Amino acid sequence: MSAPSNVLVLGTRNAKKQRELEILLRGTGIEPVSLSHYPNAIEVDETGTTFAENARLKAAQQAVALGQWVLGEDSGLCVDALGGAPGVISARFSGPDATDAKNNALLMEKLAGISTEGRSAHYVCHACLADPSGAIRIDVEAICRGRIVDEALGSGGFGYDPYFEIPEYHRTFAELGDAVKSMISHRARAMRSFLAELKKLVVDGHWPDTVSG
Ligand code: IMP
Repeated sequence: MSAPSNVLVLGTRNAKKQRELEILLRGTGIEPVSLSHYPNAIEVDETGTTFAENARLKAAQQAVALGQWVLGEDSGLCVDALGGAPGVISARFSGPDATDAKNNALLMEKLAGISTEGRSAHYVCHACLADPSGAIRIDVEAICRGRIVDEALGSGGFGYDPYFEIPEYHRTFAELGDAVKSMISHRARAMRSFLAELKKLVVDGHWPDTVSG
C-alpha cells in the first residue's frame, strides 16, 4: 500500500477499541489506518506481564513487520477487591473462548457479596508509538477510576463498560456514551499525553508536520 506520510497504523484488531482511537485522533491531521489494510500484518503474542510490555510488543513487532509507524495500545480493568484482576488478561478473563458477556458474568460471580464500597476499580491504557525500525518513540499510560456495579446499565462502549460506573456521574461508561467517554476515559487521557509527545517529535523533525490543535 502506498501510504501518505501522516499515516499512523493502529496496531489493534479490536474494532471497538479501534473506533475509539479514531475518534480520539480526529482533527489532529493524523490518518489512522487499521491493520486490515495490511495483508502482511502479523499477530503479536501478548506475552508481557504488564500493560506497558504488551503495548510495546504490539507497537514494535507490528512496526517492523509493516515498515510503518505503529500505535500499540494495551488496556484493561483492574479491580481492587480482586487484587488487580483481570488486569492484563482482561480480554480473555473467562478463558480462550472469552466474550464480553462471559467476562462480565465471571466478574459478577467473583464480586458477588462485595458491597458497593468494596468495588473500586480502574481502567488502564498504555499507548506506545514505534517507528518503522521498531524503536519505541512514545510510551505513555493513564488510568480512569470507577467502581463496578452489580447490574449491566447502558448500551454504549464495550467490554466491561456496562458495569463500570464513574462515581462523579453516577452512570456507567455504557450509559455515558462516546461524548463523555472520549473526554475522561483511560484511553482519552493516554491519547492526550500521546499527542503531546507526538508534537515534540514534530518539532524535532521526526514526524510530518501535520499535528494540529
Ligand atoms: P487488549 O486488547 O489485550 O488490550 O485487551 C483489552 C481488554 O480490556 C478489552 O477486551 C476489555 O475487556 C478491556 N477493556 C479495555 N479498555 C476497555 C474499555 O474502554 N471499556 C471496556 N473494557 C475495556
